[in-house]
Amino acid sequence: MSFQAPKGTFDWMPPRSERVLAVRDALAAPARRAGYGYIETPAFEDTGLFSRGVGESTDIVTKEMYTFEDKGGRSITLRPEGTASVMRAVIEHGLPGGPLPVKLWYSGSYYRYERAQKGRYRHFSQVGAEAIGTEDPAVDAELITLAVDGYASLGLSGVRLLLNSLGCAECRPAYRAALQDFLRGLDLDEQTRQRIEINPLRVLDDKRPQVQAQLTGAPLVTDHLCGACKAYHEEVRTLLTAAGVKYTDDPRLVRGLDYYTRTTFEFLHDGLGAQSAVGGGGRYDGLSEMIGGPPLPSVGWALGVDRTVLAMEAEGLFDAEPATVDVFAVPLGEEAKRVAFGLVVELRRAGLSADMAFGGRGVKGAMKAADRSGARFALILGDRDLAAGAVQLKDLTTAEQTAVPLAEVADTLKGKLS
Ligand code: AMP
Repeated sequence: MSFQAPKGTFDWMPPRSERVLAVRDALAAPARRAGYGYIETPAFEDTGLFSRGVGESTDIVTKEMYTFEDKGGRSITLRPEGTASVMRAVIEHGLPGGPLPVKLWYSGSYYRYERAQKGRYRHFSQVGAEAIGTEDPAVDAELITLAVDGYASLGLSGVRLLLNSLGCAECRPAYRAALQDFLRGLDLDEQTRQRIEINPLRVLDDKRPQVQAQLTGAPLVTDHLCGACKAYHEEVRTLLTAAGVKYTDDPRLVRGLDYYTRTTFEFLHDGLGAQSAVGGGGRYDGLSEMIGGPPLPSVGWALGVDRTVLAMEAEGLFDAEPATVDVFAVPLGEEAKRVAFGLVVELRRAGLSADMAFGGRGVKGAMKAADRSGARFALILGDRDLAAGAVQLKDLTTAEQTAVPLAEVADTLKGKLS
């Protein structure tokens, strides 16, 4: 019997998997430079954290959660997103009693039972950042800028930023009511009608053309913002412009999680087909109280690592595969193999990346392995050279070969590779 990765999941394998590491590092780097500390939370939580935090009426909670009962009879859910867990941890550890905002970044796997297609998986990876406990448009602008800089550092030129404000507890109810009035007059199926009553903003997010066509005259949230929300949003926009960040106002932008207030944003890439969102986030001033914490106005984002790799591939940003090591040793015989093993260990301890041929494949196979590794140098260890205490150092780009005394191999290579 053989097995395959479960439906909707896949394996990142070398050498392509290197791209995942590169993307994860690059997306996190700007946040780390801005003082965000690393947080790691469990991959599963009490189910209630997500149903309350993400929202009972969202697709994530109603259709997409991996929920099970553990052996102790608790209802457990594999995390579908990161923010609720981070907020739970911040409250649990009493951080709101210290300096605010609490700035944190994270990276990991998330799980949603989605209809699998290109760019949409049941297991995927995100880098996230959250600034918890401060209501200040500069924090919103900081986070957005950090994401923009992360994408830019990867060389991506096709990422677009959409920006909106969803208002607050003051102004959202009146907007919600106006939107419901409008939506109730449309020709919609029963399920969408139910959605109007539970979460009307989500109807704006409906992708079906027959629904979109009817939404042309829908009231816009930006026309219903209270004075405070309007001023707040204006300041976020001013700061973004000052930071050289280009964005498009999109008054229809709502997001699939219930906890958002005020600033919301999404990063899109046009090279990905239907699943064009490479990242998104926003302000979630009510989340802490929804999960039993103190008032903690906060803002954050999550950027999709898998989709960012796909976006970079669509832009042709990865050309040649990276070399796995700089140096590859090819021993010609049993005794040579022992010497090669010791030499490779020594090189690694000296900080060089080195590998050797294993498995006694013969010279031809070993040289092929050296080529395939992408190494710039091969070390060829034959009996005659070894008797003289030397090895052949071959530059695989020029085919130039010289004998180097064993004791000098590390220093010679270090000089050539620096
Ligand atoms: P969300 O929490 O839904 O806003 O997701 C943030 C980002 O994570 C999205 O913009 C995507 O790039 C990525 N993402 C979300 N869901 C998936 C999925 N099912 N498969 C792959 N990437 C995803």
